[in-house]
Amino acid sequence: MLPGNFYCADLYIFLPEIAYQRHGLIFISRLKQMKITMIGHSTVLIETAGKRVLTDPYFGLHGNPAYARPRPPACTREELRSVDLVLVSHNHFDHVDRRFLRMLPPSVPVLAPAATAWMTRLKGGRNVTGLRPWDKKSFDGIVITAVPARHVTFTVGYVIEAEARRVYFAADTYLGSFMRRMGSEFHPDIALIPVTTFLIPMTMGEKQAVEAVRRLAPQTIIPIHLGIVPRSPLMRTSDTAEGFRERVRQAGLNTEIVILKEGENWTPP
Ligand SMILES: [Zn+2]
Repeated sequence: MLPGNFYCADLYIFLPEIAYQRHGLIFISRLKQMKITMIGHSTVLIETAGKRVLTDPYFGLHGNPAYARPRPPACTREELRSVDLVLVSHNHFDHVDRRFLRMLPPSVPVLAPAATAWMTRLKGGRNVTGLRPWDKKSFDGIVITAVPARHVTFTVGYVIEAEARRVYFAADTYLGSFMRRMGSEFHPDIALIPVTTFLIPMTMGEKQAVEAVRRLAPQTIIPIHLGIVPRSPLMRTSDTAEGFRERVRQAGLNTEIVILKEGENWTPP
């Protein structure tokens, strides 16, 4: 039997209980087993417990006057409008997409920081619930906990608990002491953390991200926030996700770093 929904895809080969991917296109279904797909920048599709959770939707192709987007997202807004839950960490242009929010069915819940939930509504979110750090909300097999983040505006991260796994979506954040609590309280299996590549730092660079690995001690890290670059060369740094992975290796930490390009996905072992 073919799974229920197709997005961004048309070239899949189905075998009994096996579906695999050709030509880099993405197959999105109501999977029971967790699958994490990089749509682009901090927009990540987490399929778990039969639901599709989308983080920080950003489908713009051109960036803004200060930042360029060199590579397009793997899916269009239209292709992802039937997700089941949207997590918005904050209201910067590269984390919340007005046109996407407006085309989302009103039944799809959108979570956002409580302090700026009004702004997410103003940008088109219809079914918006504001959460404060450590607030929890359950969605039929998935528990979402908003967690602190340190950024230049009101921001929360999220922990997604489903299938006996905990995925920490850190959003835009600097290194923070709250990460020790995150590590000891949640023991995240998978952490999606920003490794910024520019000045003025808006998130963690390579070095801070390595310290975050120590505090969180997850099995796997997937770097995010890699989809925009400053237009001015003076704002760029040499930090990369690959450089971060090398630093983690040199530090002797046994967290696996999985670098996903737009359209690539990863399934926990
Ligand atoms: Zn931001």
